[in-house]
Amino acid sequence: MAGVLIIGSTGSIGENTLKVLEQHAEEFSVAGLSAHSRWQRLVEQALAYKPQFVHISEEHFDRVKEALSGSGIEVLCGWRELVEAPARPEVEVLVSAIVGVRGLEPLLTGIRHKRRVCFANKEPLVSAGELVMREAAASGCILLPIDSEHSAILQCIQGEAHEDLRRVILTASGGPFRLASRVEFLGAGLEQALKHPTWSMGAKITIDSATMMNKGLEIIEACWLYRLPEISVGVLLHPQSIVHSMVEFRDGSVKAQLGLPDMRIPIQYALSWPRRLELEMPVPDWAAMGALEFAEPDTDKFRSLTIARECSRLGGAYACVMNAANEAAVARFLEGGMPLGRILELVEDELAAYSGQHKSLEELIELSEDIQHRVRSRTS
Ligand code: NAD
Ligand code: MG
Repeated sequence: MAGVLIIGSTGSIGENTLKVLEQHAEEFSVAGLSAHSRWQRLVEQALAYKPQFVHISEEHFDRVKEALSGSGIEVLCGWRELVEAPARPEVEVLVSAIVGVRGLEPLLTGIRHKRRVCFANKEPLVSAGELVMREAAASGCILLPIDSEHSAILQCIQGEAHEDLRRVILTASGGPFRLASRVEFLGAGLEQALKHPTWSMGAKITIDSATMMNKGLEIIEACWLYRLPEISVGVLLHPQSIVHSMVEFRDGSVKAQLGLPDMRIPIQYALSWPRRLELEMPVPDWAAMGALEFAEPDTDKFRSLTIARECSRLGGAYACVMNAANEAAVARFLEGGMPLGRILELVEDELAAYSGQHKSLEELIELSEDIQHRVRSRTS
């Protein structure tokens, strides 16, 4: 049985991962769970899944320690403990389901210790893609995407040669503002932006989907993961969220992966790759569904797509700047009282002001923190 550590276990991906693991108790055991603020839920999970250890933020440590006293479950807190958790001997699989670039260091620990790294948390790859891919190549670690589009691509390229790939196409639901005018989109408030039409997800990625910055992040994620230039990563709006992405090959053949929009499918695929395991999941009702639609996104409205492509072309730390500014701007937007379009302005301002050469892990972390701090102070 493979011991699984989930960082971000109380979130949307974390909870879905536990549902998948529950169906495969003969293959996987829960080695560790980590959460930030929802400590009661972490305690419930710990009592249900009996991991060797849990990790919680310092603020809630005493409460969790008390609630789990006598359970035999070790309770950890502190940032270094979280960063080092993937190196513990009971951990064979790391599921990275934390939000934001903050997940970079624990991810790198998993990579350096050659764990099976299943990552939903895309911000580290966007911010430090060169470094992450270099470390993964050096350790020989397998990096498996949970993001549904990247999982779809992985499923399509099984048995294919890299030189036969012509292009990949990421599908995007278009979020709640797919049909809105540019003005409506830019002026939208929190309540409208949180209404995602097809996927149920955490707050940050739901806002990223509304601005389509999520697709921007995913373009960069795909470039690193599948060694493609930005121009070879297309985006199509597909409001039904049934086709999760497509791959075009050099002979004009196209493969796509389809299924219901349920994250348990890509989570399980990352855990079991290259095998498939049983999952109690219906397939789409094709005849009842009607048409599947595809359209080009309006990049005047969704300019996050253009911003992300530009960052990918420029290379260096531009994507790190874009991500950090977006994280801080989204956090501020989630507090209410700010129009959605302001997020994009804040990102563009930070990019226009940037002209540095940040490369090392320490430099990229510091850059992310500085940018987040500056955006916070500009919006407070
Ligand atoms: P979420 O907000 O639902 O959950 C986040 C989890 O991370 C929680 O368990 C929280 O306790 C933990 N966390 C947050 N900040 C932390 C901190 N500072 N220290 C330690 N733990 C912290 O988020 P989510 O929707 O599950 O998304 C997680 C990641 O997966 C994101 O990077 C997102 O972009 C990516 N992703 C999510 C989905 C989805 O369907 N939800 C799909 C694709 C990719
Ligand atoms: Mg996705």
